[in-house]
Amino acid sequence: MKIIKKSSFYLVVSFLLVMGLSLTAYAQIEGQDTLFQISTIDALLQGLYDGDITVGQLLDHGNFGLGTFHDLDGEMVILDGVAYQVKSTGEVKEVSDIVKTPFAVATYFDEDKSAVFKGVKDIEELKKELTELLPSKNIFYAIKIEGEFKHVKTRSVPKQSKPYPKLAKIAATQPTFDFYNTKGTLVGFWSPYYVNGINVPKFHLHFINEDRTGGGHLLECQLKRGEVQIDYSSGFQLILPHSNSFRKIKLNEESGEDLEDVEE
Ligand SMILES: [Zn+2]
Repeated sequence: MKIIKKSSFYLVVSFLLVMGLSLTAYAQIEGQDTLFQISTIDALLQGLYDGDITVGQLLDHGNFGLGTFHDLDGEMVILDGVAYQVKSTGEVKEVSDIVKTPFAVATYFDEDKSAVFKGVKDIEELKKELTELLPSKNIFYAIKIEGEFKHVKTRSVPKQSKPYPKLAKIAATQPTFDFYNTKGTLVGFWSPYYVNGINVPKFHLHFINEDRTGGGHLLECQLKRGEVQIDYSSGFQLILPHSNSFRKIKLNEESGEDLEDVEE
């Protein structure tokens, strides 16, 4: 009787131990960063600018990110849990939770690796140096660079009305902004090549200046000094729009060339 009790005691202990271990393992997986994305880059390229979820809902899935707004009304930058809208006039404002977005990516930023960059002459050199920091080309990364810049060039997109033109057509006439000797933050992502069609492969970076009065989609930059933080993300959650327009839009067309025109 005593022996049985003892063995059942051990059974219970080992059961609890196994439970505890698997809960810890689960907690670790849960704790790993996940990129949360609304819609696909191809849908945006094809002109799907109908907002689908609200900025408030997006902020439930991350405190860091980028995207655009309903009617393609400017560039989105999410930093420290605040969503900013860089309008095509260059004006920046904090966005209310009820504004909708047709395309956005967000994550809870959690630094896994850091570095200091000094004297980076242009965006190509920046991308090259960042790429060297990535331990694999097969997962996602959120990238944050707080820096002093000699020059930053950005663009924003003007608000559209229906029927929406394709993004490449708008990008050809987009307003650009130059900032000289400015402090600010680059906010963005590096995505693996296999996301082609869903997200932007490799780099997609937005900028917001320190006093939150300027920013946009990054086109060029010259960095004096930057604190680089990289967040490794093995999780990816894609939410497709619920709208009829998404269901009807043609996404089987080749849009790789459009993406090159728009994002580079
Ligand atoms: Zn962008």
